[in-house]
Parts: sequence; structure tokens; C-alpha cells
Amino acid sequence: MSLQSSDRKSGRFVLPGQRLGVIEEFIPDTGTYVRDGIIYSRVVGRALHDLLNKRVSVYPLVHGAKVPKNGSIVLGQVSNVQSQNAVMRIFKIDKKQFSGFFTGILHISDVQPRYVESMFNVCKPGDIARAKVISEKNGTYHLSTEDRNLGVVYAFCSRCGHMLELKRKEMHCPRCGKIEKRKTVPDYGEGAI
Ligand SMILES: [Zn+2]
Repeated sequence: MSLQSSDRKSGRFVLPGQRLGVIEEFIPDTGTYVRDGIIYSRVVGRALHDLLNKRVSVYPLVHGAKVPKNGSIVLGQVSNVQSQNAVMRIFKIDKKQFSGFFTGILHISDVQPRYVESMFNVCKPGDIARAKVISEKNGTYHLSTEDRNLGVVYAFCSRCGHMLELKRKEMHCPRCGKIEKRKTVPDYGEGAI
């Protein structure tokens, strides 16, 4: 599934912070919030655009109490990046979604077997990344992206927010032309989320 699908496509899978429409068009309902007149999703779920009543809501994906374990493959949204580590909000464990959030930390030494100079060349806030849980301490999950199938699945331009395209190993913004760096997966832009 692509994140480039239309703002208004009902039933589509959405992530926290994803744009759902504007308040001139829709009344924001459960699972949403408004900032500067734009309606965003507050949760991971399915967006419902009720065109008859002009309402938009998000139905959260609720599943059993699954918890990450060592070796689990998780999917999350990068929430904070510093030079040596990145913080991720995990929303999927071993291909299963759940309602709560777990926090994962990726340290620069666990990004890839080769030396990495800065975490800012690996991922940026808002990106969706796939990682493996390598340890757990006090509810914080330590992650690794060393495997070639692990890394950023969807990346967004740090200047304009548009989804970046992967062209000849470079991340390129089709809207504003910015070029950025990421540690991407082979199925970048196509991975199921
Ligand atoms: Zn851009």
C-alpha cells in the first residue's frame, strides 16, 4: 500500500499525524486532531470519510496484547533523531498491529555492519522504519537495522513533507527537489504497513 494515495480515500490505513482533509470540507470526529485548519489522524487505524455527513474519523486497529520480544521484527515511526541514536514509536510487531505504543531506540552502532557517521544520514522524524528487537530493558526496546531487509520503508522530505523517491541510491523529493540520505530497505516505498 502506498502513502501517496489521495487524502480522501475512505478505509485507507493511516498513521498518527497523517493528513485527512481540511476543516472547510469535514468535521473532525474521533481519532483525529486539527492543526492550522488541517485534520490529522491521532492514531494508527483506518480513516473513514463520511461524505454524507461531512465527517472524518479514524477507527483504531485494536488487537491482542502483543508485546515485542528479542528477535521480533517491528515497524515504527521515527519520532526523534540525534547524532548517535533515533527513537521510534513501534506500532506493529511481527506483522501484527496493536493499539498501544512501544518505544524503541536505535543506536548508531546497530544501524549497519559498516561505520555510520551520523544518525541524520540514517533516518529522520516521521519516517517509517522496520527494525529487529535486540534487547529490552525497563520497557525500552533496543533495535537493530543491520540486516539488509531492515531500515527505512517510507521516508518524508525534511523540508516539505512529501514522500521521498529512491533514485540511484539517492533519496530525492519530487516536490521541492531536496536530496537526502537514508538507510533504506530493498522494498522501499512498497513495504506493507
Ligand atoms: Zn521536499
